[in-house]
Formats: sequence, C-alpha cells, structure tokens
Amino acid sequence: MRRALVTGITGQDGSYLAELLLEKDYHVHGTIRPGADPAKSWIAHLLSNPPLHERMVLHQICLKDSESVKDLVAAVAPDEIYHLAGQSHVGLSYEIPQETCEFAVLSALRLLESLRSQCPNARFFSASSAAIFGRPTVAPQDEQTPIAPVNPYGCAKAFATHLVRAYRESYGLFACSGILYNHESPRRGPNFVTRKICRAAAAIKAGLQQELLLGDLEAKRDWGHARDFVKAMWLMLQQANPDDYVLATGVSHSVIDVLDAAFGSLGLEWRKYVRQDPALVRPREPVALLGNSRKARVILGWEPTVSFEEMIREMTFAEVERLGTGVSPE
Ligand code: GDP
Repeated sequence: MRRALVTGITGQDGSYLAELLLEKDYHVHGTIRPGADPAKSWIAHLLSNPPLHERMVLHQICLKDSESVKDLVAAVAPDEIYHLAGQSHVGLSYEIPQETCEFAVLSALRLLESLRSQCPNARFFSASSAAIFGRPTVAPQDEQTPIAPVNPYGCAKAFATHLVRAYRESYGLFACSGILYNHESPRRGPNFVTRKICRAAAAIKAGLQQELLLGDLEAKRDWGHARDFVKAMWLMLQQANPDDYVLATGVSHSVIDVLDAAFGSLGLEWRKYVRQDPALVRPREPVALLGNSRKARVILGWEPTVSFEEMIREMTFAEVERLGTGVSPE
C-alpha cells in the first residue's frame, strides 16, 4: 500500500486530495496545526467513516520547525508528499507579508531538505500559483511565461517554485510544482471572492443580509474546480519524469460573471445588493490571469470536468444548505 503525506490536509485542496488518495487505496498521513480540531474541518466526514479513518493518520506538527519536519518525513517514509499547507490569500498577504513569505518559502525548503536527507526516492508535489506571473503581458500564460510576481504571496510562491526546480535539477529529486490557477469549491475559504459572493447570495435570499461589498468587479480570473485540480496533482507524481505544469481551465470570467451565476441561480438581481468598496480594491491587481494547461492535457491526460457555471451553482446551493443546518467548518 502506497503512503502519502499531505500538508494542509484539512483545507480545501487537502481534503479533496485525501478523498482521492483514499479512493486509490493509499495510506494517507496528514499534517495539522497544533491545536487545530480536525473534527471541525473539511476532513471531518473522512474521520467519522471507520474504514477510511483506519487508513488515515494525522500528525499535529508545526511546519515552521525544521527538526519536526525532518522527523516526520523520516517516520512516515512516504512514497509521495503533497505540500499544500500555507496562507493562500493574496489580499491577506499584503496585511501579513512576513508570515506569508516566511511560511511559503521555508516550509517548501524544509520539506525538500527532509526529502533529500530522509527519503530521496519519494516524489514531491508543491502547490505553486498563477500569482507568480504577476501582471503578465501575454495571455494565456504557460510554463514559459516569465515569472514576475506583483504581490507578497506571488513573490513567495515564485521563490518556492524556483527552489523546487533547483532541487530537482541539482539533486535529481522527483519534485514538481503545479502552477495552479484559481480553484474553488464549497470548501473554499470565505474570504475568496467566489465563496464570499455565493455565501452572500444565499444569505440575501434568506433575508439575513442586505448588501454585499466588493472590490474590483472587472477583475478576471481563470476559475476551475478544486476537485479537478487535485486529480492533476496526483497525476503529476505518477509520471516517468518530474516537471512543472500549469493547471488551469483556459476560460476567463469576471467577478461580474460570478455575481450573475450565483445570484442568478437563486433568482436574484445582484445589482440591487452589491456596492463597491474602494478599500477592497487591491494595489497593482493582476487584471486578467488566464492559463494554458496544454502541457498538462497532453502529458498528464488531464482536463477539467466541471464548468464555471456548474461550480458556482454548486457553491451557492451548498451555502443555502449550510444556512439551513448552520454547520460550516472554515
Ligand atoms: P486571488 O486571485 O487568489 O486573489 O483570489 P480572490 O478570490 O481573493 O480574488 C479574485 C479576484 O476578485 C481578484 O481580482 C480580487 O481583486 C477580486 N475581488 C473583487 N472584490 C473582492 C472581494 O471583496 N474579495 C476578494 N477576495 N476578492 C475580490
């Protein structure tokens, strides 16, 4: 039975990846922050399912501590490591740049060093981001697009992406970066714009909220479904050779399109409720991130299966359901 170690297992991507790996008969080890309660996270349903829970081990560990990371990698001796942990919100990275950068850069480095010294044959996936391209002058972007980040989060991810490549080339490690475009789901953090909008639409429909404040409505993103993205992460580690891949849908939508899809699915007209708040407009916003995932499609045989409209509808209805039950791990 193959063993995988997933950092950030309780988050959106980690939880979908854990489901996928369990489905594929892996033994899944996951890291959680000291003090965090996994029963109140996106993996709660896996922990309450005995046959699945038997193949899961959670480790409370601080990924800021090099010795603990090294000891964990040595103890688990994983076949595959998926590094998904970290603060992933661009807006927040302006507010806490030091913490965002320190964690993103040094946690990747600690894991790569642990891999090198403890289990050099293990395969390593690192979650990079389209934010490394900053304000690209070409669209769509691919693996050849110059790395030129414009926010602290993008800078940190750029550094980690270079580290992964350096360790692959210098030490021959099977280390890969997935350059991930925005990927969403009902498990997305509530401060991301898709979830914020879907949640507000449901609350407005229920009469619990009167207005929604947003930043730049014209900003465009390439939004895919997280469940599709974790499949590509797994596929990247099943190849004969390690490499970096852009993962994206190749379809661009604006924040207005999210509003149309979310409010529209509940029969609401968003213009009645939305106000722009200049404080939510970001400095040097990348206006149009759009990815070309041709390499992933050709080499990995990967393609996204969930359309933008289906995804926003799923997210909106999940919020309606949550308002009914009042249960929502964040
Ligand atoms: P990001 O692409 O990783 O920064 O993902 P987000 O979901 O945070 O933001 C996507 C886009 O929505 C960005 O261009 C934001 O500037 C824009 N946006 C507009 N209003 C808001 C808002 O109220 N919250 C967030 N998070 N983003 C907003």
